[in-house]
Amino acid sequence: MKTEVLPAFLPDHSINEAAIRKAASLLQGGELVAIPTETVYGLAANALDEAAVAKIFAAKGRPQDNPLIVHIAEFEDLEPLVTEIPEAAKRLAKAFWPGPLTMILPRSPRVPAGVSAGLSTVAIRMPIHPAAAALIRAAGIPLAAPSANLSGSPSPTNAAYVLADMDGRIPLILDGGPSKVGVESTVVTLVGSVPRVLRPGGITVEQLRSVLGEVEVDDAVLHKLKDGAVAASPGMKYKHYAPRADITILKGTLERFCDYVAGKDATILCFQGEESHFAHAVTYGKAHDGASQAARLFDALRELDEQGAKTVYARCPELDGMGLAVYNRLIRAAGFHLVDLDDTEN
Ligand code: AMP
Ligand code: MG
Repeated sequence: MKTEVLPAFLPDHSINEAAIRKAASLLQGGELVAIPTETVYGLAANALDEAAVAKIFAAKGRPQDNPLIVHIAEFEDLEPLVTEIPEAAKRLAKAFWPGPLTMILPRSPRVPAGVSAGLSTVAIRMPIHPAAAALIRAAGIPLAAPSANLSGSPSPTNAAYVLADMDGRIPLILDGGPSKVGVESTVVTLVGSVPRVLRPGGITVEQLRSVLGEVEVDDAVLHKLKDGAVAASPGMKYKHYAPRADITILKGTLERFCDYVAGKDATILCFQGEESHFAHAVTYGKAHDGASQAARLFDALRELDEQGAKTVYARCPELDGMGLAVYNRLIRAAGFHLVDLDDTEN
């Protein structure tokens, strides 16, 4: 199959209506289209068409037990997809939709079981990216869309990365430029007594608490699941976001970091402005600025591969705000390998 890449916007920044129409008609016909969103690029199919959804799993090589997120364009689109809309969901939608927040709700039988990998719940999000919203409206169907990478590799934040993974596997990629947020959406489950974050992302835990009050953070966000444990968010159990390099996160000051890596033959993943300390460095955003780190992280992981990096030491993000989402991705990319430099044993 030949993969076409079409610009989602015209030179005057307006939506490329012809490209949207072409994408909408492919989706209506049960085909896959890679689409830009504010988080990362998505690999979309008609969420109500079981056969189309199966193509997503095949194109990505995605494990069958890892459910997809369904993307909608209006709040009214939510009702037919779920059996109940709790008050908390209405409040979150009012505050953060459209935007990088996914809510887990009880699944309506109208949503094919394959979308949710057989779970009784369904994940729903309303993207704010204008091309994604225009496409959902033009197609007139909800779109199931996981990140548009091959399973296991970092999520793609631009069309070239999508093409590198999906060339020959899908008919069309809409190129909407670089993704602004750079990491996937926050996933919060509203099934259960207290809302719980299953995956941190573009909407911070602090923002959720400002609307809902009590919000829990699932253990799997920061820690490796124990062997045999059931993941509340199945995606969290897979080795993810992983470049080929062997990454170790070093937690501590820049000074201790420099001491630790001195004399080691390694590539350094550091913050902007720190590169001059190292012979080989790739940067991922500014220190103390989780949003800028998120915007750069997946690009930086792909750059490490392009440079053929084998051993990588990474500076550790802070765990508040967007930093939690950055840490959650980086610790998985590092296979949970972290050294605490403030620990006197080191
Ligand atoms: P991706 O689309 O690649 O960002 O992956 C979607 C994420 O949402 C994965 O981590 C899934 O495990 C999670 N997810 C999707 N649907 C559900 C659900 N019904 N319950 C819990 N997690 C879900
Ligand atoms: Mg993904």
